Amino acid sequence: MVVAAVATAVSIPLVGAALTPAAPQLQPLAGGVAGAISEPGRTPVAAAPAVPVGDSRVSPARAIDADARFGPNRREAPTVSSLTGYRWPIPKGRITLPFKAIPGGEWINDGRLFHDGVDMASFCGAPVVAAHDGVVLAAGRRFDDQVGWIGDLGPYYHRLDVHHAWGNLPNVVVIDDGNGYRSIYAHFRDVTVKPGQEVRAGTLIGHEGATGHASGCHVHYGLFSPYETKTFGVRPDIVRRMKVPTHEVARIDPLLVLPGGDVALRTRSIAKAIAAAAAAAAPVVIREAGSFGADQVRRR
Ligand SMILES: [Zn+2]
Repeated sequence: MVVAAVATAVSIPLVGAALTPAAPQLQPLAGGVAGAISEPGRTPVAAAPAVPVGDSRVSPARAIDADARFGPNRREAPTVSSLTGYRWPIPKGRITLPFKAIPGGEWINDGRLFHDGVDMASFCGAPVVAAHDGVVLAAGRRFDDQVGWIGDLGPYYHRLDVHHAWGNLPNVVVIDDGNGYRSIYAHFRDVTVKPGQEVRAGTLIGHEGATGHASGCHVHYGLFSPYETKTFGVRPDIVRRMKVPTHEVARIDPLLVLPGGDVALRTRSIAKAIAAAAAAAAPVVIREAGSFGADQVRRR
């Protein structure tokens, strides 16, 4: 994908005109003025134009017409805080780069260069599984129609054709999570699913790799919310070089839905995050005085 000069094991802008018929809860984006992230029932509020990062030619954030984008089903989608059923794409390894502003980031969020997902790494060739039940929208290098680009991808595709550059893109899997949200996994060595295939949380979808612009094997995991009304800008030099649109639908922090995400952010350990989440969910047996051995089980 976008081959930008980023020093970290970072992502490439996975662009995306998010909306296709295959994803009923995400519909074609309309241009507009970026608004604040909305919760169900909230009316998007127009935000101030994004401040260019060292480049006055950066255009303001585009607006997303929430009605046009999400359609009538958007109010049926769960809020981020109530999402269930997510699991880690890899069970061990480290969080090598969180969802945050970073030097060299390929996206622009609120005027700062930004990393639009979570990078996690274990070892090259490690099995990577679906984080949630869903339906595969894209698998391989033809994924840009599914990853939230706002605008015409024609010039970008033409450039890839002319330069025979499709092979430079990362292997990516995009999955409609069936709840209005959409998961994106990037940099696979190889993928093991096909578009249209139904998957369960835990289904093998490919193997960890470093395809595309990556300094080492890792998984870049991104997440789209059906309630998002904000956009991320694309770094101007990338727009000029790759001929991609100037904006994508903003993504949300995947650690909000992955079990023990707060622990992962603090410790950078996926195993510790999983253990902490399991401990929090496990029944705790409490033997009370006078109960004569009758155990009471409760959840903490
Ligand atoms: Zn990344």
